[in-house]
Amino acid sequence: ALPISQAVRLSKELSIPHISTGDLFRENISKDTELGKKAKSYTNEGKLVPDEIVLQMLFDRVSRPDAANGYLLDGFPRTIPQAEALDKQLGATKLIVLDLEVPDDTILKRALGRLTCGSCGEMFNHHFSPPKKEGICDKCRGELKKRADDTLEVIQERLRVYHEQTKPLESFYEKKGLLHRVDGTQSPDLVYQSLLEKLKPENQKRGG
Ligand code: AMP
Repeated sequence: ALPISQAVRLSKELSIPHISTGDLFRENISKDTELGKKAKSYTNEGKLVPDEIVLQMLFDRVSRPDAANGYLLDGFPRTIPQAEALDKQLGATKLIVLDLEVPDDTILKRALGRLTCGSCGEMFNHHFSPPKKEGICDKCRGELKKRADDTLEVIQERLRVYHEQTKPLESFYEKKGLLHRVDGTQSPDLVYQSLLEKLKPENQKRGG
């Protein structure tokens, strides 16, 4: 999965919408929609929301006009059936898969320190990039929040679920010649440059 700041930055550069299934669930949960009610028990426990629910939400979103010329998916697909459904939906449309590799202990530390501005979405990290004033966004003075699912117990469960259900996607996409690995432990700017590099047409492993 892409850390949201990298995904947002890339989507701006490419002028395509950033579509994060996690963000879509959080929006629905905060608005207490039917979808939010269904998703909440899963996201709160670090479990995956059932494929049917994720797929319906995702395909509704990508069928909107702003996604007609491409989109950046963040946090999707997370299971083999999701990837198969995406394949079907895309048909001959080109897919580029970016896999940001970060060891579990680093992910755990990043997620535990993660702070997001409730107003502008800017991200900070208690350990790595703290805000100038605790709890306040440097950019817009908004209030910084922790995600409800960024507790030790839930992060550990998300990692367990990742290894069980999402990790198999690596070989799924590798076999198709679509997988690009990027070292996610580099500095954010280097990660970003590596991601851009992978997107250059001459670096595509398979035409489309
Ligand atoms: P994220 O913001 O990507 O970390 O996602 C937060 C939570 O939303 C996850 O822990 C899951 O409960 C749920 N979620 C997000 N994307 C998916 C997906 N593709 N499949 C199933 N559940 C998802």
